[in-house]
Amino acid sequence: SVPLSFFGGIGGASRLGILVKGSNYLELLAHVDTVVFDKTGTLTSGIFNVVAVHPEAGVDPDYVLSMAAHAESFSDHPIAVSVRAAYSGEIDREKIDEVREESGHGVSARVNEHLVLVGNDKLMAAHGASWHDCDLTGTILHVTVDGAYVGHIVIADVVKDDAKDAVDGLHAAGVRHCVMLTGDRADVAQAVGTRLGIDEVHAQLLPEDKVAEVERLLAGEKDGARLAFVGDGINDAPVLMRADVGIAMGAMGSDAAIEAADVVLMDDRPSKIAQAMRLARRTMRIVW
Ligand code: ADP
Ligand code: MG
Repeated sequence: SVPLSFFGGIGGASRLGILVKGSNYLELLAHVDTVVFDKTGTLTSGIFNVVAVHPEAGVDPDYVLSMAAHAESFSDHPIAVSVRAAYSGEIDREKIDEVREESGHGVSARVNEHLVLVGNDKLMAAHGASWHDCDLTGTILHVTVDGAYVGHIVIADVVKDDAKDAVDGLHAAGVRHCVMLTGDRADVAQAVGTRLGIDEVHAQLLPEDKVAEVERLLAGEKDGARLAFVGDGINDAPVLMRADVGIAMGAMGSDAAIEAADVVLMDDRPSKIAQAMRLARRTMRIVW
């Protein structure tokens, strides 16, 4: 026979596709009152589509896309995957070297002897490149070749179909505070946050800024209240470890995240978190 707690505890969670790495995490989950979400890959699918390419005057849009796709050809960041998917030409990896991925910024690489930068404002600023802003909503990838601005690529991600339920479910379960942290632009972040009913949004963060933000929230927690961080793992391992409960996406998430996490959502559905909390409270016999 199986002990009763099996059905409510770790075993019960695993049948819901929630892997809990120890019963101590069930206890912590039961007391979570702040849930911090990463955006890309966690609340959004992390599958981007290229929606537009805006070359500078006199530049061929295919050239912008080609240079970006080549520079991104060794990256497994979802942005890189989407840029490659939008480029219909061949990628000759022999022509690419000196590839550097700068987390939270973008990539630099030498393509056909030309130095290519693909990334956000921070990448451009860090390299002293010239670029100009554009008032488009979306994630913007600026592209420069040998220091000259050749244009930008606009990409868009889609909110997961259960993301709203995830946030509503947590609020209904008594979670006081839902926070979203992202390296993406403020306009994109705010639009997603408002749509999902997130209480607090912080954008344009580097991985180390996310750790600092989580530490600030931890310091403000009431006695006995716990904080959970939910991420897909691209650059998230340090925050996953810092939170009281680190929750990772298991299907699209990185191995490093699954390793660093205390709880893994096997099907990447954020609505499973409220379910896991309810189950944890039942198991701990906490009446809410
Ligand atoms: P998030 O915090 O939303 O999960 P990341 O920290 O992975 O996002 O990335 C933050 C930002 O850094 C992206 O929105 C993008 O502007 C830039 N970036 C990161 N990696 C790349 C890349 N491979 N190519 C271009 N831009 C990138
Ligand atoms: Mg991410």
